[in-house]
Amino acid sequence: MELSKALKLPSFEPGSVWIAGAGPGDPGLLTALALHGLAAADVLVYDALVSPEILQLARHGARRIHVGKRRGQASARQSDIEEVLVSWARAGYRVLRLKGGDPFVFGRGGEEALALRAAGIAYRIVPGVTAGIGGLAYAGIPVTQRGLNNAVTFVTGHGSDGVLPDDLDWPALARSRGAVVLYMGLRTLPEIATRLLAAGAAPGTPVAVVSEATTARQQVLRSTLGDCTLAVARTNPKAPAIIVIGQVAALHDVLDWHRIDLAAAPDERRSGIGR
Ligand code: SAH
Repeated sequence: MELSKALKLPSFEPGSVWIAGAGPGDPGLLTALALHGLAAADVLVYDALVSPEILQLARHGARRIHVGKRRGQASARQSDIEEVLVSWARAGYRVLRLKGGDPFVFGRGGEEALALRAAGIAYRIVPGVTAGIGGLAYAGIPVTQRGLNNAVTFVTGHGSDGVLPDDLDWPALARSRGAVVLYMGLRTLPEIATRLLAAGAAPGTPVAVVSEATTARQQVLRSTLGDCTLAVARTNPKAPAIIVIGQVAALHDVLDWHRIDLAAAPDERRSGIGR
């Protein structure tokens, strides 16, 4: 049977928009729906975080529109992006709005869905593997582990105004046996560590900073709440980086199955299989 039939994949209707997650980088983490969207889309509207390996899976001849948002770079305004989606869909094209990770996790996918709804455009949401779960898994960090944590909090290190959100309950985060997963947090990690320590978190709490997770360039910096500021200043980890603060971060030390042999030539690099 044809794969798309076996998987019950819906047809991509002309004049509609799919808001899809591309996952954190490894093309193997694309969902079947996202891959199907890539094969069928007439227009691809994508972010800086979507890797070239994934973009090359787009249908030959599809129009590509880059609306990247990356700190320090000029980026399209959110209202302009929404306008692009609406106008191409109104012109009758199949529009794939492709975002890094999951479109509804710090990805403004919800805002775009609201804009499409307001404009009366048909849309579908295609969830993706988010960096805060799948990216950590590639560093050997289970986002929950029985006995270690019973909650996870996803935090953005920089809100819509570019600074640390000021409505976080630091004492509650410090008290709970949870894990804090920090997106866009490289710059604000020192401030977050200071606040958690001031609210009573233990300085020995494990921290992991996972850069370019799931790619061949993945790097992990392990430290603690007490020394992460120094460790980050010293090693200057690459963006994008996903950060986890909590006991689960220490599992990286034993479960790091996706080790990259950086001494090998790029095409010989292999990630180890857990053993
Ligand atoms: N929607 C995305 C998040 C977008 S916000 C998702 O669900 O993953 C951008 C942040 O995501 C980055 O600053 C970083 O914290 C994280 N991120 C995305 N891709 C990543 C990757 N490959 N490695 C590490 N962090 C990543």
